[in-house]
Amino acid sequence: MNWLLSLAAVCVLVPSVHCATATGWCYHNESCNDTQWPTLFPSYCAGSRQSPIDIVSASATADSNLTAFTFTNYDNNSALKEIKNTGKTVKITLTSGIKISGGGLSEPYDSLQFHLHWGNGSSVPGSEHTVNGKRYPMELHIVNSKATYNGDTALALKDSTGLAALGFFIEEMSGNAIGQPAKWNVLSSYLSEIVTSGQSYTVPSGISLDDLLKGVDRSKYYRYLGSLTTPTCNEAVVWTVFKDTIKVSKDVIDRFSTTVRIADDSSELMVEVFRGVQPAQPVTTQSSCSTSGYSLGLMALSLVLGRG
Ligand SMILES: [Zn+2]
Repeated sequence: MNWLLSLAAVCVLVPSVHCATATGWCYHNESCNDTQWPTLFPSYCAGSRQSPIDIVSASATADSNLTAFTFTNYDNNSALKEIKNTGKTVKITLTSGIKISGGGLSEPYDSLQFHLHWGNGSSVPGSEHTVNGKRYPMELHIVNSKATYNGDTALALKDSTGLAALGFFIEEMSGNAIGQPAKWNVLSSYLSEIVTSGQSYTVPSGISLDDLLKGVDRSKYYRYLGSLTTPTCNEAVVWTVFKDTIKVSKDVIDRFSTTVRIADDSSELMVEVFRGVQPAQPVTTQSSCSTSGYSLGLMALSLVLGRG
C-alpha cells in the first residue's frame, strides 16, 4: 500500500490527530512521528548518517582543517526577510548575499534560512543535538547551500556535502532577565503575527544574524557529516555544532511553545519540535592544542637541548 494512502487512512480513522499535513510526517502522532520516518521515507530516513546525534565530547578527534569561518553580511540588519509558521517550525528566510566560508568547508556556501527547534518552555528541553547526553532548551539551525548551486536546494540535496548547517544551542539566561537579548525579544514578538500554519510576516529591518548569535565564540565547534533532521532526511549535510550557547531569557524561550500552532487557530500549540538522536557518527573538532606554534617551538627547544 502506498504510504500516502496508509497515512490518509490513519487520518480518517483518527481525526483528532494532526497527521493530515501535505508532507505526511509529524512530531507527535505515533502514526507519523520520527520513529515512523524510516518506514514512511525509507530512501533517506533509514540511512546510515542520520542527524541529529549525541555528541560525545571526549570522542571528538582533532582536525587541523577546522579553521575559522568567515561570515559575510552577518552584520546586515536587513538580512531577515520573512518569518513563517510552516506547521513544523518557525522559519526565517534571508536576503541574498549572506554567506559563510572557511571552517573547513570545501567552498563558500550561501546562507538561505534559519529555523528553530524547541521543547515545551524552558522546562522541557528541545534541542536536536545533545552533548554528552545533555539536551538544551532550543536549537537554531542556519541552512547554507553550496554557492555553486546558486540557491537550487534540489541540486544541493544530491551532493553529500551540498548543504552546510550551523547549529547553535539556546540556553536560559541566568538571573531573572526578561525580554533579553533585546533582538531576540523583538524577533519572538513577531510570533504573534504567525500563529497559524502557513502564515508569514515580513520582518522589519533592525536585526542581524550577528545580533542573534551574540556571545558565541564561532571558532569553537564540532563537525560531522549527517542529514536533514526532517523528512526526507537527505544525507547531504555538513554539520557544524557550536560549543558555546546563545543565552536567552526564559520568557522569550517560553514564547515559542505558547504562541504558534501546528495548523489553524483551534489546533495544538507547536511544542517539542525536534527529532530524537540517531546512531553516532565520527565527530571532529579543533585541536585542543590551539597554540600549536608554541608547542612546536617547545618541541624544537627540547630537541636542541637533547631532551627530545
Ligand atoms: Zn533544523
